[in-house]
Amino acid sequence: MRIRLLALLLPLLVSLPSPVRASDRPIPVEKKAGPLTPGEVVLLKIGAELDTLEIRAFGRSFPAFREGGNWNALVGVDLGTKPGTHTLRLEGTLPGGKKISGSDTLTVRARSFPTRRLKVEPKYVTPPAEVLARIERESAEVENVFSTLSMTRHWRGSFAKPVPGEVISAFGKRTVYNGQERKPHTGVDLRGKTGTPVAAPNAGRVALASDLYYSGLTVILDHGLGLCSYLAHLSEISVKVGDVVRKGDLVGKVGATGRVTGPHLHWTVTLSGARVDPMSLIDVTR
Ligand SMILES: [Zn+2]
Repeated sequence: MRIRLLALLLPLLVSLPSPVRASDRPIPVEKKAGPLTPGEVVLLKIGAELDTLEIRAFGRSFPAFREGGNWNALVGVDLGTKPGTHTLRLEGTLPGGKKISGSDTLTVRARSFPTRRLKVEPKYVTPPAEVLARIERESAEVENVFSTLSMTRHWRGSFAKPVPGEVISAFGKRTVYNGQERKPHTGVDLRGKTGTPVAAPNAGRVALASDLYYSGLTVILDHGLGLCSYLAHLSEISVKVGDVVRKGDLVGKVGATGRVTGPHLHWTVTLSGARVDPMSLIDVTR
């Protein structure tokens, strides 16, 4: 059965394209998002009685979850997403077992990210031969964490900045170290002095607590349902792998370890593998 998705746009939030195809049974889909550009997070609220629901967009699957009688889901627009119109696909099962599906579109606008030029120790731009094996091992370790995330939802309610400091380097900036371009900035840098407590932005399970070449002392929190926080350059780690933390619990302290120009907290968020702006996650969950 073809169904129609009805987009109920929230007044404060920017336009997403609305209703789609004709049908006998509209499913109301409310979308909460900022201007839709690479790095944004979209919160979907699906007001329909369904036994199961699957959501696909941008070649990724975004797990849906039930809350307050609704189905909700977070959809992430990866930093590398090409501008244009993308399909949002919903597939579900009605009580009784009948399968339904529908689709809507997400139009992603281009965004130009500024460039930042940083000066760091040369060993972080051209790593010496003796650390190459270490870098490779650590990258495999992190990959492994991202490929074994929990499908249990740990997070609840809104996300919060792990430190009170403001953003000093925004998400998505092109990055040039000592005159050489490297990967873009996939997180935000928050102001904080060495020793400032770093709090869990939401509940989660500690999936990695380790000293990494580029990120320094690093904690990865698995919030569940494909959502993950990566907290880097710490001076101290206060948790160990397997610990379950609540929102606000201490996970470590701000530092200047790894490839940095000074103390700050770097926070990356990934959602089903999509690299998204942590500030957007805070906005849509508040
Ligand atoms: Zn950073």
